[in-house]
Amino acid sequence: MKLLIMGPPGAGKGTQAEMLVKELNITHVSTGDMFRAAIKEGTEMGKKAKEYMDKGELVPDDVVVGMVRDRLQKPDCVKGFLLDGFPRTLAQAQALDDTLQTMGIQLDAVINIAVPRDKLMARLTGRRVCRGCGASYHILFNPPRVEGKCNSCGGELYQRSDDNEEAVANRLDVYEAQTQPLIDYYAGKGLLKNINGDQEIKKVLEDILACLN
Ligand SMILES: [Zn+2]
Repeated sequence: MKLLIMGPPGAGKGTQAEMLVKELNITHVSTGDMFRAAIKEGTEMGKKAKEYMDKGELVPDDVVVGMVRDRLQKPDCVKGFLLDGFPRTLAQAQALDDTLQTMGIQLDAVINIAVPRDKLMARLTGRRVCRGCGASYHILFNPPRVEGKCNSCGGELYQRSDDNEEAVANRLDVYEAQTQPLIDYYAGKGLLKNINGDQEIKKVLEDILACLN
């Protein structure tokens, strides 16, 4: 199964992605994780990406697309993958299509997790993120086993400084503006699966699995 998952900040995308790859035994290809790993390892792509990030600029498409292409060619992606955090723009989606085509691969579905805006606002202010591995928690909906500590790596959990109301509202605006063309693009290809993310975590996963059958 070759899948792509999308969802606004706070939709629980990361949590669903983690459960989904286990359930389907496919590889989680998270661009966020890839960036952190590439920068840590000091690869060519990592160095390029870091230059832009240090300047507070978006990493250009060719760098991101290059990293994703390299990643999808690794043997663990043969059994299937879940792309997470990419593409973010229509141009990236088109570049991804070209890349997949040259690899002889087709996406099976694009999962779009939707949550009403007021719920997202409430959720995002309770979010805590791991300093170590980037894993995401919520003080109410998805608390870590030990308060303030990451389940996977034991890293310290913190609240992002941009999780206040104004910053969150701005982030949602940007996300919506950027993503709507992507949603239209994948809907036009008949790949889009809209999932109600305003439900219990387990129910959301059930709905995702059901729409893949
Ligand atoms: Zn962690």
